[in-house]
Amino acid sequence: MSIVVQKYGGSSVADVSRIRAVAARVMRTRREGHDVVVIVSAMGDTTDELLALAKQVSPNPDRRELDMLLTTGERISMALLSMAIRELGGESISFTGSQSGIITNDRHVDARIVEVRPFRVQDELARGRIVVIAGYQGVSYRREVTTLGRGGSDTTAVAMAAALGAAYCEICSDVDGVYTADPRVVPDARRIGTLAYEETQELAESGAKVLNAQAVEFAKDKGIAIYARATSSPLPGDDPSADGTVVRKYPPRMPGTVVGVASERETLLLEYGGRERERLLETLDTHRVAGKQLHQAGEQLTLVVSRENLHEEPRVRQALASQFGDAARLRDDLGAVSIVGAGINASFSTLRRGVAALASAGIPQDAVATSSFRITWMIARPKLDDAVRALHRTFLGVADRAGNAHGGPVGP
Ligand code: ADP
Ligand code: ASP
Ligand code: MG
Repeated sequence: MSIVVQKYGGSSVADVSRIRAVAARVMRTRREGHDVVVIVSAMGDTTDELLALAKQVSPNPDRRELDMLLTTGERISMALLSMAIRELGGESISFTGSQSGIITNDRHVDARIVEVRPFRVQDELARGRIVVIAGYQGVSYRREVTTLGRGGSDTTAVAMAAALGAAYCEICSDVDGVYTADPRVVPDARRIGTLAYEETQELAESGAKVLNAQAVEFAKDKGIAIYARATSSPLPGDDPSADGTVVRKYPPRMPGTVVGVASERETLLLEYGGRERERLLETLDTHRVAGKQLHQAGEQLTLVVSRENLHEEPRVRQALASQFGDAARLRDDLGAVSIVGAGINASFSTLRRGVAALASAGIPQDAVATSSFRITWMIARPKLDDAVRALHRTFLGVADRAGNAHGGPVGP
């Protein structure tokens, strides 16, 4: 029997009736003859609510204690879903991340999975049971409970799929796949049927929440196909790209094709004009602040910090102010918007078109950075959604649909 791993996000298990609907979908999968492993996120906005609770007690919550708190969200959903499956006549058992063998490094709040030892999961599958696993969490080799960073249930699912040799990993959400932009921001965004790992990873790293970037990186490394689908859509048929998105290895598209636009609202721009760059970076590491798009020219260093997994901002601000004074400035008025596609910087034509599109929409550009897969602009936060729409219109409007195809799948 082939093993299928399914992950259901927070909105899919937000209340009891939705949990029942998920249980029914799991049972349908089981009746198709698969061994089923289900990963669940915390119900609805539980993780946000737990974080808000922690901040009421401490503005700089201790990272270990935060992990103890945040992991409870997924534990609630796993137990309720397992009960719901049993109500439908299924035999199921729930496990925490630790019980299911998710071993991580010892970095609290945004730990990385280093190994999966799924022995208990395999034993229960062999007994004919459906296994329900709490996403977003693991245990470090020091036996501390850890979490995998926001959106980390996707990573649990892909890691478990790889460890079990699953046929594919289904990521089920409130949206039926990966779109050319967030459909909440761009109403005429279109579902993308097939995406290569690298494209998906860049979209996720640029803020497209639908798939977690670390999960995609894992899938790429282990050759696991991801099917991004709506919880309300049917089980995958012969062509899962017809009603969802399939992420796997694909031959390249026409070079320079923009596949999507993504944005990240909650970013901080760190600007440093002093000479003690090494000490600055050390301070960021001490506080476990992850930065991206580091750029240095002359004495000026800039980098972008994502707020997603930064839960001790007052402490970080204080450390920067006391050690570097006015030389280090954190700008809190900008977000990032990116266009993504392989080879889009082979010439400057895509960059020039993007600059012109933003200018003609009256959107000032504070900074721009490029890589071989992406162009990112820093934009005043109130203009960010307008920027997403302007870039989508320019690169993914009706006239630009041609040339977006690539050939059939290659490799595993
Ligand atoms: P889940 O709780 O199921 O993990 P998330 O909220 O993490 O779901 O991700 C789904 C949301 O991601 C969608 O509701 C959608 O608004 C948002 N989103 C952002 N970018 C995209 C995109 N390119 N395609 C699809 N959804 C996107
Ligand atoms: N519940 C966690 C979060 O809200 C993990 C997840 O949903 O994937 O980030
Ligand atoms: Mg998610």
